[in-house]
Amino acid sequence: HAKDQDQHEFHQAVEEVLESVKPVLDRNLWYRQQGVWERLIEPERVIMFRVPWVDDEGNVRVNRGFRVEMNSALGPYKGGLRFHPSVNLSIIKFLAFEQTFKNSLTTLPMGGGKGGSDFNPKGCSDFEVMRFCHSFMLELYRHIGPNTDVPAGDIGVGAREIGYLFGMYKKIKNEFTGVLTGKSLGWGGSLIRPEATGYGNVYFASEMLTTRDQTIEGKSCLVSGSGNVAQFTIEKILDLGGKVHTISDSDGYIYDEEGIDCDKLGWIKQLKNIRRGRVAEYVETYPQAVYTPIDPTLGYNPLWDHSADCAFPSATQNEINEQDAKNLVKNGVFLISEGANMPSSPEAVAVFHDANCLYGPSKAANAGGVAVSGLEMSQNTIRMSWPREEVDTRLKQIMHSIHSTCVDAASEYNYGQNYVAGANIAGFVKVVNAMLDQGVV
Ligand code: NDP
Repeated sequence: HAKDQDQHEFHQAVEEVLESVKPVLDRNLWYRQQGVWERLIEPERVIMFRVPWVDDEGNVRVNRGFRVEMNSALGPYKGGLRFHPSVNLSIIKFLAFEQTFKNSLTTLPMGGGKGGSDFNPKGCSDFEVMRFCHSFMLELYRHIGPNTDVPAGDIGVGAREIGYLFGMYKKIKNEFTGVLTGKSLGWGGSLIRPEATGYGNVYFASEMLTTRDQTIEGKSCLVSGSGNVAQFTIEKILDLGGKVHTISDSDGYIYDEEGIDCDKLGWIKQLKNIRRGRVAEYVETYPQAVYTPIDPTLGYNPLWDHSADCAFPSATQNEINEQDAKNLVKNGVFLISEGANMPSSPEAVAVFHDANCLYGPSKAANAGGVAVSGLEMSQNTIRMSWPREEVDTRLKQIMHSIHSTCVDAASEYNYGQNYVAGANIAGFVKVVNAMLDQGVV
């Protein structure tokens, strides 16, 4: 649509999927006749709303709220909420579009959605965050429900925000239901949910390594971000005997030649989850490490310019450009597994494929988070909670199955070991077949 021309991120995601699924559309003319592609790229519903709140000084502040209900062919809309000043309709549409295929890959009955706000929690007091979340839910509640749309966390939305959002939903509706996932353990959350995206990403990377008879043990790794996904990616890499040298936030990054061990990871969790500080503080406690502030004039991110075997981008979209990808390959990185959503630009992905890297795209590699959210929904429905080992075992099985589904779909369409094509085709076919079964609605 001409009117959507400024939706750069959404177009990037749509073009990537279209490129992969062209052979599927060519082989199945029925898909074209039924207009499945045109239907897929138009969200079923887009909700945008005003979120007014009062800050600690008594000033009235106004943010914009979003919920994109992309596709419900496979189940209730499911996908996170992002609170970050960069949030706009294009970003939420791209995330909701990707989520549809990712959720399809998990094999669980979930449609695709995503939401959020341009609200910036950084620097806000707990009370300000609470007032914002309550105001956000005062509008969102009428659009969601345990069988309709089940939001979760994403950038800027963790256990604290989910708690405030849930509290207001429960008060308005006078019912205690599994309307949000990522809840705290004491009141309906699932064990392993906080860990799931990071752990799942490392399980997926291990599956890719197995195809070359290798494991994570002894591998040196670069991780970006320092939030939920980054923290549990590091935890699982350490658990499997790998070494991690980097973390980052939006101000800069840390390079620790000695490696980030379990004690240092504990310190990072305190810093980011409790004190809500900046990674720059790392060098005050660990002076052998080096902190480099972001330099937007550079044209590349020096975090990706260190010798290593594996890279786990875990911050945000388009954080690896073509130059970063070339630097990674030049420095020996041969595995890239994406914790963040769409962190590599299309040009970067081409560099990885040309260099025959093991490249796990986000919709496959980071699907563990939403998979365990799906398991949280199941536990809420039966009002039970499963033990840690059980959820972790299910997560591992799901990541194994996503990996083999991608390999099989890529090979069926002669794409070789191309996980992008495999994930897009497998995710697409399942959603589209469900849409066809349900008619033109
Ligand atoms: P968090 O808010 O916990 O952490 C985000 C991290 O990324 C922080 O270190 C943040 O730094 C950094 N970051 C955010 N925006 C930017 C930016 N524009 N430039 C540089 N750094 C940035 O979020 P999550 O860990 O949950 O999410 C990280 C990524 O993983 C996102 O792409 C998200 O969509 C994806 N993801 C998350 C899932 C989950 O279960 N949480 C599931 C699947 C995907 P700072 O502290 O400065 O903001």
